[in-house]
Amino acid sequence: MQEQWIVFDNDATGSLITALATDARLGARAIARFSPELETALHETFHYEKHRCGGYTLHLSRAAAEVEAANPFYSDNYLNRPLAVPCRIDQQADVVPALELVDTEHIIGTIECLQDMGTRYYDSDAGQDAALELEARWSDYGIGRSDFSVTRFEHPWKQDSVIASIKGAALPGEIVVIGGHLDSINKCNQSVAPGADDNASGIAAVSEVLRVVLAYGFRPQRTLQFMAYAAEEVGLRGSCAIAEEYKRAAKNVVAALQLDMTGFSGSPHDMYFVNDYVSRPLTDFLKKLIGEYNRQGPHEITFGDTDCGYACSDHVAWTRVGVPAAFPFEALFSDYNKEIHTARDLLRKLDKTGTKQACFAKLGIEFMMEISTSRTAMER
Ligand SMILES: [Zn+2]
Repeated sequence: MQEQWIVFDNDATGSLITALATDARLGARAIARFSPELETALHETFHYEKHRCGGYTLHLSRAAAEVEAANPFYSDNYLNRPLAVPCRIDQQADVVPALELVDTEHIIGTIECLQDMGTRYYDSDAGQDAALELEARWSDYGIGRSDFSVTRFEHPWKQDSVIASIKGAALPGEIVVIGGHLDSINKCNQSVAPGADDNASGIAAVSEVLRVVLAYGFRPQRTLQFMAYAAEEVGLRGSCAIAEEYKRAAKNVVAALQLDMTGFSGSPHDMYFVNDYVSRPLTDFLKKLIGEYNRQGPHEITFGDTDCGYACSDHVAWTRVGVPAAFPFEALFSDYNKEIHTARDLLRKLDKTGTKQACFAKLGIEFMMEISTSRTAMER
């Protein structure tokens, strides 16, 4: 049995965490030996005691865990670092008409399709069926375009991650990413995990961004990639594998947007920007996009700020390798949807009109079209 280690924030407490955490505490993070039979208990502890989903990263050696615990990319220095891509907002001629193509019924249809699969657990046949379904759906959106492709990224477990790409016309080596996790989990019974909010709602928004960008006939200057990550619920494993592979292959991801839970109206505003483990300049840029495109009218988006308090979703997979990442969430973290990770995480608890989920798709469209094509960036 291969040795495994986990890293989590030092403020994680609770009986099991305290027992695990005795190994080492390095600065803001703690390291513990991990054994797979502890997985369910660990997940329950994070979920019940800390209201956390995921909440730790998994490593194959103690040395790798130590590197993660001391990762400089989590420092304020890096999180405040200006974006490498200059971000003037100047694609109104394409963004404004593209926003009109967002279809709430389409978003709801994707959520229903995924929740009705029963479970998308990362190491199950059904989890892989969800990956194949999404691959087919995404491939359909781009039929006939030679600059479009959909691939599956394989992992050591059953469920693949799915990646759709639109090749950049001028700077194909510079990649803009939008993604969310495809897997779901039920803390008591793996056979029923509909995961409508967590995270069919995020995948539905990512899918809608892809569908609209292609339906509009948009030709990006940089490469656009749309990612459905496997195995987020068990320690950000799918997204970390992809981010590490991209780093190893020297692929240049210029920015990454994470959509995880977009449908539950737990707080007054449409969305809340997570402020920890994210690039602050990228988060500020997203707020500027809302100021430009969603100030009022049918596409209006209201927003606030929130903190996860830990490595709570796949944006951290990008942050930890030095890629600027941002994460708009459906509510204040304190008002999160209490039905997630149960058999009751169903569409009926969410905005059934799809209006709220569409806010996230619209921001995704603005982000992908502006960052991939900003004139200022091309003049560099
Ligand atoms: Zn999630």
